[in-house]
Amino acid sequence: MYILVNEGIIPRSSFSVDIEDRGYQFGDGIYEMVKVFEGVLFEWEAHLQRLFRSARELRITISMNKEELTEQVQRLIAIEDLRDGYVYIQVTRGVASRIHHFPEGVSSVLVAYTKEGKEERKEELAGIRVITTEDIRWQRVDIKSLNLLGNVLAKQKAVEAGAQEAVFVRDGMVTECSSSNIFGIKDGVCFTHPANHLILNGITRQVVIRLLEKVSLELEESPMKLEALYGMDEVFITNTGQEVGPVIEIDGRKVGNGDIGVYSRNLSIEFQRLIDSVVPSKR
Ligand code: PMP
Repeated sequence: MYILVNEGIIPRSSFSVDIEDRGYQFGDGIYEMVKVFEGVLFEWEAHLQRLFRSARELRITISMNKEELTEQVQRLIAIEDLRDGYVYIQVTRGVASRIHHFPEGVSSVLVAYTKEGKEERKEELAGIRVITTEDIRWQRVDIKSLNLLGNVLAKQKAVEAGAQEAVFVRDGMVTECSSSNIFGIKDGVCFTHPANHLILNGITRQVVIRLLEKVSLELEESPMKLEALYGMDEVFITNTGQEVGPVIEIDGRKVGNGDIGVYSRNLSIEFQRLIDSVVPSKR
């Protein structure tokens, strides 16, 4: 298995993480996870933009420009002969003696690896059970940083409750989930939290927003109260791994009649169509 480390592609076995890497000690870094279908990076431009935005917000300098990084990631996919799966890319501020402020003269460390996963293409839509939990995270979750403890604790709480995802609630308002964005549909209007500092502006969220028109849904980017979420006709979550995930139960209460709703199903179909439009075998 090969990985990309800064500008070079090397065997994974020849790389080790320095104990003084700031990603390791402070969570001082950023990441992206990008799906690959038939060797094609899905929504690559959007992921690339977000990675560079996260870097800018944290004042981390990525050693390559967008074109160079694109070329290297494509080279890695070719070397690994990755057909279906994903690429994980991470950039940390670099390796330095442990001080909190930015160290001087340090170069960032970029690593990327691929993961094969044949199940990456969605066959069946499965209903998802979620719980809600207080959003205890910091107020810059729009940055896709390595600091994920709030997310980890929330997801663990969900798993221990027999659910698949945890919905964050901040001051009575639904923000997003531990590793996904959330949408609620009521009377043909699709609600989701606006893309500000309180949510990660998911790439899948952005794609789904573009698809709403195709399924005759109107968009309303305003936060939902928890009570409003319970009363939605349909609820679904989105992320790179899951795409459109219909929620059938929240805190033990059924969403609608407890079945996967028509809008969620149609959105998922439109999403699959979009993927088909970019993969070589279907073009
Ligand atoms: N919110 C959070 C907190 C996440 O971790 C993720 C997944 N990275 C998302 C939303 C969805 O983002 P995307 O659609 O880009 O995967």
